[in-house]
Amino acid sequence: MRLIFLGPPGVGKGTQAQKLAETASIQKISTGDILRDAVSRKTDLGLKAKQFMDAGQLVPDEVVIGLIRERLSSPDCDGGFVLDGFPRTVPQAEALGRLLEERESPIQRVISLEVSEHELVRRITGRRSCPECKRVYHIDYQPPKQSGACDSCGAKLIQRDDDREETVRKRLGVYHKQTAPLVEYYSARSLLARVDGLGSVEEVFGRLKAAVS
Ligand code: ADP
Ligand code: AMP
Repeated sequence: MRLIFLGPPGVGKGTQAQKLAETASIQKISTGDILRDAVSRKTDLGLKAKQFMDAGQLVPDEVVIGLIRERLSSPDCDGGFVLDGFPRTVPQAEALGRLLEERESPIQRVISLEVSEHELVRRITGRRSCPECKRVYHIDYQPPKQSGACDSCGAKLIQRDDDREETVRKRLGVYHKQTAPLVEYYSARSLLARVDGLGSVEEVFGRLKAAVS
């Protein structure tokens, strides 16, 4: 199974990708998680990416394409993967297409998750994330069992710097301008399935599995 989860920040891509990866035993690949790891380890990549991420902008295409090229060449991706947050621009989608064509293992389905803008802002501003195992929670919708701690690994939950309301508005603008054209891009290639992201995590997961199978 080789999938892309497309959609604006906060729509639920990471939550659903995590569930699908666990259920189907495939890799969840999030460029946002890879970049945040690099930022926290203060690597060259992290130092370069941080200024863009803090400003709510996209990290340059050549940087993320390089990351994905390296990640997909790992043998653990041979059994399948779900891409969460990549591609985000048409040049990224074209580069991914070329990369997978070389390997004769094309993307099989692109899921476009959709909810209203009001709900997106509510979801993102209430998001809390585990910096260790990358699970996400929500202060109202999906609170952890013990306040402030990850259910899975016990690490202290954080609010991402770019999840504050003023940066969220900028990120949504970037999505509409640079990423939304990918809905048409993949629709024209008969790969797109639109999935309503409103409802409980389980309800959305049910719709998503139906769209994938
Ligand atoms: P994305 O990866 O698309 O940015 P996330 O999966 O991190 O989005 O979800 C954003 C926030 O919304 C998180 O706080 C998550 O707990 C919450 N969330 C995800 N799916 C749902 C849902 N179906 N209903 C309510 N809240 C949700
Ligand atoms: P995310 O965790 O997917 O919300 O991504 C957080 C931030 O990481 C984004 O706002 C971008 O700055 C950066 N980022 C993640 N994925 C990409 C990508 N495919 N292209 C460019 N920037 C990205």
